[in-house]
Order: sequence, then structure tokens, then C-alpha cells
Amino acid sequence: MENQQSNQEDYLVKALCLDGKVRIYATRTTKLVDECQRRHDTWATATAAFGRTLSVGAMMGAMLKGNEKVTLQVRGGGPIGKIIVDTNSKGEVRGNVDNPHVDFPLNAKGKLDVGRAVGTTGDIYVTKDLGLKEPYHGSSHMVNGEIGEDFTLYFAVSEQTPSAVAVGVMVNPDHTVKASGGYIIQLLPGVDNDFISQLEERLANIMPVSNMVDQGYTPEQMIEAVFPNEKIQWLDRLPIVFSCHCSEEKIKDTLASLGEEQIQSILDEEGQAEVVCHFCNEKYQLDRQDLEEIIEEIKR
Ligand code: ZN
Repeated sequence: MENQQSNQEDYLVKALCLDGKVRIYATRTTKLVDECQRRHDTWATATAAFGRTLSVGAMMGAMLKGNEKVTLQVRGGGPIGKIIVDTNSKGEVRGNVDNPHVDFPLNAKGKLDVGRAVGTTGDIYVTKDLGLKEPYHGSSHMVNGEIGEDFTLYFAVSEQTPSAVAVGVMVNPDHTVKASGGYIIQLLPGVDNDFISQLEERLANIMPVSNMVDQGYTPEQMIEAVFPNEKIQWLDRLPIVFSCHCSEEKIKDTLASLGEEQIQSILDEEGQAEVVCHFCNEKYQLDRQDLEEIIEEIKR
């Protein structure tokens, strides 16, 4: 099969099987992760860590509805620092990492050493804006810093939903992204133990998800590979795209929050300011007049 998946748009599918007792999300995120790699200039191991988190984010966004939003923070204690992914129910995803230039030799399994980059001593934090007065907060400890197992634990302890999370990224020698994607399987009450042990065995022996994407599997085909004998009930299909909501207006508001004194000193010393959006690396140039307007705005 000729591999053309890098030219194809990213998307996600939701499905059910076992009479609705098993919920499945699967996504291909190659373009998204490639764009984030370019914007943040991440090196290979950092790209894999970031990309796996972006895939989890895309799928957790798809668990929301309407205008709900979710932010994932992985603070594993490793050299990459903090990974943030911000997403919503419309498949719009953005994110950043503290230290993009993290790269290690392949681990003993010949894989990108994500666990070493992310670390194993910290926590995952999830904040959901569900349109209520207070946002929802959840957290859990890291398992091995490989992201998939860390979020598997998160779903179990924080959302009381037994889940299997598989995410993977393949990076080209030139640092671009060759393949990225993942799936999340969630077991709802009523699934019997035989099914669970069969599923565990299947997941232990199945092809890694980054290989599936690399070999041209669609998200639907990933699900069929995991559940070859089950009748799948297909639900939504959602495009997954990189999207940042920053604007000059929002950047000015952020700057205004520094206070009049701080902006006056930038004005006196520099006469201008360059502000970089940390989610998309877009640079905003503010000149003397912009800074004076911000001060006027604060005084009002
Ligand atoms: Zn931005």
C-alpha cells in the first residue's frame, strides 16, 4: 500500500461496540503534530511526547459537547518541562512545551524515549471548562511518562472510567512527522470479564498505533483492527485541526494586565514590544502608539 497519509486531512471517529458498553475514539493527527513540530521547533523525542499528548487532547476534546473546552497539562518532572494541550469539542487543538529541544537516543525497545523526556515523578492535570461557574479539575500521578499509560491511569482514578489509551508518533530523520495517531477505548458498566481479558490480550499483541497510521490505516481501520470480531456502531466523524485563538486584541489585553508602570518602562526603554503567543509562536509587533493606547486603556 502506498503511503499517502501525510497528504490526508486529520480526523477522528467515535464508535460503540458490544451494544454500547464499549466507547471508542480513534484519530489520525499526523498533520496536526507536524504543524506543532514546525511552529515550536521540537526535536524528535520532544515531538513524540508532545504529539502523543496532542492526540490524547484531540480525543478528550471529542468527549465534550457544544462550547466546552479542555486543557491538559503534563508535568512529569522530566527535561521537557510542562506539556500543555488546549482543545475543544470542534476538533481545534493547540499546545506547547517548555523545552522543545529535548532529544535522546532511542530506548531499549528501539523507540523514541518519551518517558525519559517527560519524566515519571510528576502529575497530569486536566481542566475542563463545561460552561459552569467553576471549571472541572482532575489529576493523577504519572505512571511511566509514556503518555498512553499515564492517561489510562488518569481515566481510571479521576474519571472512574476504565480505559485503554494508545498513542504514538513516528518522526522522520529531518524532524518532520511521519505518522501520528491514537485510540482510546472506554469500558462502561456491564462489560464482562471475559471480554476484558480478551481485549487486554488483543491490545498487548496488536501493532503499535504509529505503525498503523504509517501503514495508511484510517481511524476506522484502527478500530476494526482492535475489534475484528465485533459489530461496530459508527457515531461521529470530526476533522482535527491546529487552531489558535490568539489575536492582537487578546495580546494587548494580556500586556495590559502587566500594569501601567511596567508598560511605561517598556515604552521608555524599548519604545516597542514583541509579544509571542506561546501556543502558536505567532509574533505580534507592538509599536509606540500601541503601547501608549494600552496605557490609556488602563487609565480609563
Ligand atoms: Zn496563538
